[in-house]
Amino acid sequence: MKSSYDIVIVGGGIVGSALACALGGGPFKVALVDHLPVTEPAADGFDQRVSAFSLASRALFENLGAWPGILRRRAAPVEAMQVWDENGSGSIRFDAAEMAEPCLAYIIENNAVRAALVERLHQFTNIHHLCPVDVAAVAVEEQQSVVTLKDGRVLGARLVVGADGAESSVREAAGIARYRHVLAQTGIVATVTTEKPHQSTARQRFLTTGPLAFLPLPEAGTCSIVWSADTARADALMTLDDTAFRTELQSAFGDSLGALTSVGPRAAFPLALSLAQRYTAPRLALVGDAAHTVHPLAGLGVNIGLLDVAALAEVLRDGAARQRDIGAHALLRRYERWRKGDNALVVSTTGLFRYVFSNDLPLLAPLRNLALDVANGFAPLKNLVMRRASGLIGDLPPLAHRPPA
Ligand SMILES: Cc1cc2nc3c(=O)[nH]c(=O)nc-3n(C[C@H](O)[C@H](O)[C@H](O)COP(=O)(O)OP(=O)(O)OC[C@H]3O[C@@H](n4cnc5c(N)ncnc54)[C@H](O)[C@@H]3O)c2cc1C
Repeated sequence: MKSSYDIVIVGGGIVGSALACALGGGPFKVALVDHLPVTEPAADGFDQRVSAFSLASRALFENLGAWPGILRRRAAPVEAMQVWDENGSGSIRFDAAEMAEPCLAYIIENNAVRAALVERLHQFTNIHHLCPVDVAAVAVEEQQSVVTLKDGRVLGARLVVGADGAESSVREAAGIARYRHVLAQTGIVATVTTEKPHQSTARQRFLTTGPLAFLPLPEAGTCSIVWSADTARADALMTLDDTAFRTELQSAFGDSLGALTSVGPRAAFPLALSLAQRYTAPRLALVGDAAHTVHPLAGLGVNIGLLDVAALAEVLRDGAARQRDIGAHALLRRYERWRKGDNALVVSTTGLFRYVFSNDLPLLAPLRNLALDVANGFAPLKNLVMRRASGLIGDLPPLAHRPPA
């Protein structure tokens, strides 16, 4: 038997769950489908997967009513960020105090964010959370989209939203091609402890084999690392035992946090830049990694996905208020026009940064160091970069505006 919905969201990761919350309490009957059960962050230690969330993402979580649930789990504010190059003495430091903010971003475990969003969306009677269950097929048709689940249930919808990650089956079912550049780099993540406290500072060292970031966690001597390295180097690093890996990590990062006292289990993720050629079709929209993936060096991937959510929710709400068909391409194109250009800029800029900073061409190292030093001494430019990266300026949808204090 077919169940009828206004909107079916395929993929209930951070982006899909945030969209469901944004539609909670509204006029639509919504189904959110995901095949992974919801997991709370580790009670003992920290999860490997964390992300840096911008101030705009925090505002969105506040507006969705999910921020208290995130804080109750845990979040670490980032008060400053230090970036430097392996070859030379150039460096740049961003300080939240310089823009009169308490912090630049938050480091939060992905599981904590998803669990808090799911807790919130369960408070809305118009959202049906179907999880864990696999999607078997998606058919995008003129009058409706049809999602068939592996347990045999069939969901018909005026609109299907693909929030099912980089290898989106919704995007494929709609025949939407994507530009994809495999970076031949792998991101290694792990939790480490250090001799000196991190002082709520995120640190990133640009090595010629790729950037290495130490992100502060809620304990003063604990960081989450993201080490992006050329694939051959990353493969070799993944085969090392813990002691040998710790020695390599220490020599790659240096001693700004003193000795590394422990390194937890590692996980590796192949990195690629990608952009879907279209974000929308009749009865279909793509959000988050289903529409774009970026290099983790700037910590922007999930943040731009959350801005997709805020923009799409606004377009749908506005469409409903004007009694428009929410699956009509003309309406959905407004969402695509709003987000696609901005996202393409982020994908290309981070790609360029990775190229310039992970490169041992002889002239590049001195130029990089000069650029870092010049930018560091030029307060208006630094302020602009900080405000833009924190999501305090730009064409922000209303849901990403900070709520009144
Ligand atoms: C090493 C690394 C570090 C990163 N650090 C940062 C950072 O600091 N800041 C930042 O902003 N971004 C960061 N990112 C990027 C960020 O992780 C992604 O942009 C984000 O997770 C995308 O969220 P999403 O919900 O769009 O997709 P996903 O997280 O991929 O979620 C997709 C969901 O769809 C579900 N799904 C898929 N297929 C099906 C199916 N057939 N049936 C049912 N369910 C399905 C999956 O179970 C999953 O829950 C990082 C990425 C990497 C690899």
